[in-house]
Amino acid sequence: LMGQMMDQPLLVSSIIAFAARHHGDTEIVSRRVEGDIHRYTYRDCERRARRMAGALQALGVGMGDRVATLAWNGYRHMELYYAVSGSGAVLHTINPRLHPEQIAYILNHAEGQYLFFDLSFLPAIEAMAHHCTTIKGYVAMCERAAMPADSKIPLLLCYEDLVDASSDEYAWPQFDERSAAALCYTSGTTGNPKGALYSHRSTVLHAYASAMPNALNVSSADTVLPVVPMFHVNAWGLPYSVPLSGARMVFPGPALDGKSLYELFESEGVTFSAGVPTVWLGLVNHVKQNGLRFSTFRRTVIGGSACPPAMMDTLVDELGVEVVHAWGMTEMSPLGTACTLTAKHRSLPAAAQRAVLRKQGHAIYGVDMKIVDDDGSELPWDGTTYGHLLVKGPWVVSGYFRGEGGEVLQDGWFPTGDVATIDPDGYLQITDRSKDVIKSGGEWIGSIDLENIAMAHPAVLQAACIGVQHPKWAERPLLVVVRRPGMALTGEELLGFFEGKVAKWWIPDDVVFTEALPVGGTGKIQKNKLRDAYREHRLP
Ligand code: ADP
Repeated sequence: LMGQMMDQPLLVSSIIAFAARHHGDTEIVSRRVEGDIHRYTYRDCERRARRMAGALQALGVGMGDRVATLAWNGYRHMELYYAVSGSGAVLHTINPRLHPEQIAYILNHAEGQYLFFDLSFLPAIEAMAHHCTTIKGYVAMCERAAMPADSKIPLLLCYEDLVDASSDEYAWPQFDERSAAALCYTSGTTGNPKGALYSHRSTVLHAYASAMPNALNVSSADTVLPVVPMFHVNAWGLPYSVPLSGARMVFPGPALDGKSLYELFESEGVTFSAGVPTVWLGLVNHVKQNGLRFSTFRRTVIGGSACPPAMMDTLVDELGVEVVHAWGMTEMSPLGTACTLTAKHRSLPAAAQRAVLRKQGHAIYGVDMKIVDDDGSELPWDGTTYGHLLVKGPWVVSGYFRGEGGEVLQDGWFPTGDVATIDPDGYLQITDRSKDVIKSGGEWIGSIDLENIAMAHPAVLQAACIGVQHPKWAERPLLVVVRRPGMALTGEELLGFFEGKVAKWWIPDDVVFTEALPVGGTGKIQKNKLRDAYREHRLP
């Protein structure tokens, strides 16, 4: 017996259509590349997205064709999220911080047809355009008056010209919800980048689940500022989950330094945000150094790499901002777990509650997970046994775009490449990425734990822990540390700080101080570069 409910495909366009019709006056505020502030509403956004969808159709972009973007968080980028996917084409967001050669590789691999870009990326495009063999046109995301004169880019079009030349008549087409909607490449720290190809169904379900109270907890009472870029796993789905919730949206454009962010948080009354730990470092330092307070900012999601406990403590205890630690990956759209307390935790002392909140959290509905040993046997959820983390769910990839990497699933589960524990309440804690795990005398040492301890030292700004070769133990931990400006600290003092905090054999063998740590395109510390740099390091 079949149910008798309406059969409506879960399409990305339905999200912006809903926001325009039911939260039509709600604002989208953007700091533009030009530096000024732009304001309009969901109603305006949806109308312009439809016009752009019509323009794409006129350019010959059809179902499944890839349309790429190299752009910051802003309203035109948001319009493209809906214009491209809504029309049945595939939105391919590219990280502009990648090397131009890598960008060209990704574009060619994806067979991108049009490339939309913010003017900040003009020089990068001029440098790589002749390597991009499939592109039929480049669209500058600006008005006619701002178009670059005598640019060397072939087939250059103007965004606002396309919108102006199109009509309001365009109606969102209906098609199979399993059609491709968006494409994101993983940063590919090893080997070539690989594409995760999301469907409309997976995108809508992920947006739905990630907005819920145990996850991002977004509602129409919020003003949301996604610090996480729209080119980093589609800003963790916020361009979908925020309009779906009817929340107000604030886009920061290219200005991601602490001062610019703080000003926008305050002037626009931002209540909720999301980003990787390295951006919060800039914002928190700016606020603390200048003795500032947040007047409306109440909650943030931190993920992408482990949130250092010291950062969580500062945000919660000193600045009054609740931190939701979350874990996910490009292959998971990205959200897998988020850390919020259950009713049972409420009676625990504050310190015990904080210990729970430091974990990466609980699976959200739609995601299942397990940890296994090297032979694939499932390991217990006791909070101490660690193993390879595998996941499954309707917004987890079943393979990579164009079959790259071959068969990736293991018995229907996706291997995340992370090593983790799961406690009896189902809370996940990431020990390490399997390639970052330090193997000392056949036993694993988790680098995240050691980094967290180092970063709790008042004189440490940033720390990364890597394994370096050791004649007896195969590998031993080395700490690479950036001191806080103007503070003194010796390696000996820092190692003394580890006493009593971890097993003796986990304590790093040595500390080296450096001016800065290498950071990749998504704001993560590049441990492979550190391993290369300290390969010859002699441990004492
Ligand atoms: P890439 O794989 O390109 O670096 P992703 O953003 O997909 O980009 O990275 C996913 C990986 O980031 C995860 O597999 C995990 O190793 C790490 N990660 C994400 N969130 C967390 C977190 N909260 N704590 C620790 N590691 C995290």
